[in-house]
Amino acid sequence: MIPDYHIHTGRCGHASGGMRQYADEAVNKGLGEIGFSDHIPMYWLPSDSRDPGLAMAEEQFPGYVAEVLGLKSEFSSLSIRLGVEVDYIPGRETAIKPFLLGCPFDYVIGSVHYIDGWGFDNPALLEEFGRQNIDEIYEKYFDLLCAAASSRLFDIIAHPDLIKKFGHRPAAPPLELYRRAAVAMAGAGVCVEVNTAGLRVPAEEIYPSLDFLRICRLEGVPASTGSDAHAPGLVGAGFSQAADLLREAGYREVAVFKGRTRNMIKI
Ligand SMILES: [Zn+2]
Ligand SMILES: [Zn+2]
Repeated sequence: MIPDYHIHTGRCGHASGGMRQYADEAVNKGLGEIGFSDHIPMYWLPSDSRDPGLAMAEEQFPGYVAEVLGLKSEFSSLSIRLGVEVDYIPGRETAIKPFLLGCPFDYVIGSVHYIDGWGFDNPALLEEFGRQNIDEIYEKYFDLLCAAASSRLFDIIAHPDLIKKFGHRPAAPPLELYRRAAVAMAGAGVCVEVNTAGLRVPAEEIYPSLDFLRICRLEGVPASTGSDAHAPGLVGAGFSQAADLLREAGYREVAVFKGRTRNMIKI
């Protein structure tokens, strides 16, 4: 079974369950490898304005790392990796770098959840989609995605067409934007994440779309896989569809990481 490298836990403030429950679920479902990727503390905001519903507090971070490292040695039939999901915020690259280099991460996932401060994947902020031109929103989103890939801070770019989450799409598939993003990911050697959370939102489609994933394959971008589980029962959710999508796009292997070094395994 393909690895699940995108797992959140109760620590991030908007998921349920402890790490052990996620690991037990992975064993029950026959997964061989998982990685935890809770949201990094919101380091780019002053500490009194951080939202505990979006990411763990800084003082929780050492406990997060210690718990993953503890579970690693406890589970013999399941490989457990230490990851983290990090928002890409332009201008904050130098602030985040020491944080990422100072921890024994196996991999780092970079995400775009904000366009000019607008949390576009937050259901409470949906109205903004009606105020802006959808083509321009996509342009801005993909510019940020390219910048995230090119920052070389990350090993994996998460849910690469998250902007479609609520079903807002341009009139035609934005193939040129996909190509630009794929070229940026290939150039930086980062993975495109095949993320099954898209199946569970109005978009009703894995991130990325088949069109986008095919272009990634053509440009030579390696792929990784994740469920974006926010509850233990969602570990590995939609993975047979993810494997089918990968094969349809031409992929025959996916990435695994250890100490931020990538290896490929057959699917
Ligand atoms: Zn995310
Ligand atoms: Zn996530």
